[in-house]
Amino acid sequence: MILEPQPSTARRFVDRVCLVTGAAGGIGSAIARRLAAEGAVVQVADLDAGAVGRVVEDLVLAGGRAVPRVFDLTDAAACAAAVDDVVNDHDRLDVVVNNAGINKRGALLDVSPEEWDLTFAVNVDAIAHLCRAALPVMVAAGRGSIVNTASQWGLHPAPGHVAYNTSKAAVVALTQGLARDYAPAGVRVNAVCPGEVWTPMLADNLARSGRTKADLDALVPYGRVGYPEEVAALVAFLASDEVPYLCGAAVEITGAQAVA
Ligand code: NAD
Repeated sequence: MILEPQPSTARRFVDRVCLVTGAAGGIGSAIARRLAAEGAVVQVADLDAGAVGRVVEDLVLAGGRAVPRVFDLTDAAACAAAVDDVVNDHDRLDVVVNNAGINKRGALLDVSPEEWDLTFAVNVDAIAHLCRAALPVMVAAGRGSIVNTASQWGLHPAPGHVAYNTSKAAVVALTQGLARDYAPAGVRVNAVCPGEVWTPMLADNLARSGRTKADLDALVPYGRVGYPEEVAALVAFLASDEVPYLCGAAVEITGAQAVA
C-alpha cells in the first residue's frame, strides 16, 4: 500500500522563533505551515512580497503566528539586517531553515557565468550570510537548530544540472562544517536532501515536457513523488529537540529513487 503523508498533532515549537527562507515557495510554505502548526512564531522570508503576504495571511487564518520578512538573500547586508530585526522583535532566534534555492539547468557550456554565480549566491552564499548573523545569537543562547535544504543531487549529481548539483554539494559540505564547528556550542546543523517533490515548479516543468504526474510516479520505487508536507515533516523533526544527537547529517528523502 502506498501511503499519503500522515497528519501530526506534535507541538514541538511552542513560542520558538523560526526563520524560514524561500517560505513563499512550494516546499518553504509547507515548512512554514508545519512549524506554525506546531506553535512556532514563523518568520516568513522570501523575495516576493505579495507571496509572503499571502503565506502570512494563510498561517494566521489557520491560527498560527507569522511575520513577513521580505529581502533578497543575495544581499549580505540585508540578510544580516533581517536576522537583527528578528532578534530585536522577539529577543530570540531558535531555528533557521535555509530553504530557498534556484535551479539553473544545463551542462557547463549551457550555463552562463552569471547563472553560475547567481546559483551559488542564492543556494550557498546566502546560507553563510544568514548563519554568520544567526550563529552568535544561538551560541550566546547555548542552543539552536539550523536546517539547510540541499538536494539528492548534491550527493548524487544528475546529468544536465551542473551548477545546481555543485551548489547543493556545497550545501552538504557547509552543513557538515558548521555542525562540526558549532555543535560544541549546542547548535545543531543538518541538511535535507529531497528527490523529486511535487511543487508548482515541478508541475510547470512537467507540463512543458508533455509528461504527466503518473509518468514521474512510475519512476519512484515507492510509487509516487514526494509531497512538500513530507519534506516539511522531516525538516521539523531535524529542527526539533527530539533527537539532539542527530547533528551534521544530510538526510535523503527520495522514495528510494536513484538519480538517473
Ligand atoms: P520554489 O521555487 O517553489 O521556492 C523557492 C523560493 O525561494 C521562491 O519562493 C523564491 O522567491 C525564493 N527565492 C529565490 N531566490 C531568492 C532570493 N534571492 N532571495 C529570497 N528568496 C529567494 O522551489 P521549491 O521546489 O519549493 O524548492 C525549495 C528548496 O528545495 C530549494 O532549495 C530547492 O533546491 C530544494 N529542492 C527542491 C526539489 C523539488 O523537487 N522541488 C527537490 C530537491 C531540492
